[in-house]
Amino acid sequence: MVRIGILKERADRRVTVLAPAGVERLKDKAEILVQRDAGRSAGFTNDAYEAAGGKLMGSAEEVMSGADILLSYDHHYDGEELNGDKTFIGVFNFLWMPEQVGRYLHPGVTVHSLDLIPRSTLAQAMDVLSSVGSISGYQAVLLAAERSLATVPMITSAGGTLRPAQFLVMGAGVAGLQAIATARRLGAVVKAYDVRAASKEEVESLGATFIEVEGAVDDSNGGGYASQQSEAFLQKIRDRIHEEASKADVVITTARVPGRKAPLLITEEMVMGMKPGAVVVDIAAATGGNCALTKADKTVMHNEVTILGPTSIECSCAHSTSFLLSNNYVAFIEHLLKNKEVDADDPILRSTLVVRDGASVNERVLALQTAAN
Ligand code: NAD
Repeated sequence: MVRIGILKERADRRVTVLAPAGVERLKDKAEILVQRDAGRSAGFTNDAYEAAGGKLMGSAEEVMSGADILLSYDHHYDGEELNGDKTFIGVFNFLWMPEQVGRYLHPGVTVHSLDLIPRSTLAQAMDVLSSVGSISGYQAVLLAAERSLATVPMITSAGGTLRPAQFLVMGAGVAGLQAIATARRLGAVVKAYDVRAASKEEVESLGATFIEVEGAVDDSNGGGYASQQSEAFLQKIRDRIHEEASKADVVITTARVPGRKAPLLITEEMVMGMKPGAVVVDIAAATGGNCALTKADKTVMHNEVTILGPTSIECSCAHSTSFLLSNNYVAFIEHLLKNKEVDADDPILRSTLVVRDGASVNERVLALQTAAN
């Protein structure tokens, strides 16, 4: 029987990628080795893992040497000695860190990175980026509401009426749409912008106003991903966004382009034009940020505007994020175990496979490595 190991994440991650319910689902197909306290900061006890059929191990080394498949969120293999063939499964974001692939180029090592899952119906249950995006969008709104000097809903009280907060959401993918839905539930008036014209309908269906700027390169055939826009078009957007940002109490930015630095959408000049007490939450901070003043994982105060750049905001809701990730990982592992050999024709395994027996094999990652050299 194959042995699957769950590694405990770094302290600031707090999540786990296999909850006890996931162990329960996999226990007939694999022996599950759980590093002690792997789920603790996400609210899953060691007892719960044991009750689900997992075997507790004292250290990461024990899990590494005992398991054939090693699961983590983004625990990067650090050259620890390996015995036998190992498959690492995680969300390694090699599109933004192609140089990290080098760590895994050892005979017998295979790596699947789940952020490379294709956006297909078949792979939907494994889509970790959607899970992380949903929680990130939700959390970004709560963070903004907490930091804002103004309340979000309209409140009528003895002292008068507080008007609803104005939110501006940049990027209407999974995270942006969840931010819009959450802000609307709290009673905010929301405007949103995305380069993909297809997102207009989704934005409007959530009760927000879509900001239309003509002249975008719409990548309808890009597998659901946005393409890089021209500098002239980005300037046209900036003029319109400048106007909208000056009216907003909260700006949430979520725009990303896979494998590239996040597009700059909120310039310093725009921040200078914002209201005192306004808040920017830039959840594209991990890939450079959409706001010129964003500093990863720091709070920046500029002209009385607060700019937050959380890089792992999904981890602050660790239990819920772990629940979703666990379901994604189980769906992927079930798919992997069905295909003993990585079938070159299987679109899911072909897309996620980055290292095979110590060799770098992923076309998208290889193209980035070549471009960097
Ligand atoms: P993402 O995280 O890659 O990017 C976030 C958003 O930023 C995207 O909507 C993108 O268009 C937008 N963006 C990029 N550059 C921009 C710019 N310069 N200005 C404004 N916005 C910009 O995107 P995502 O959340 O992964 O979702 C992208 C699409 O994929 C969505 O349509 C989503 O519904 C779709 N999707 C499909 C599936 C599936 O079919 N299984 C799963 C998840 C997402």
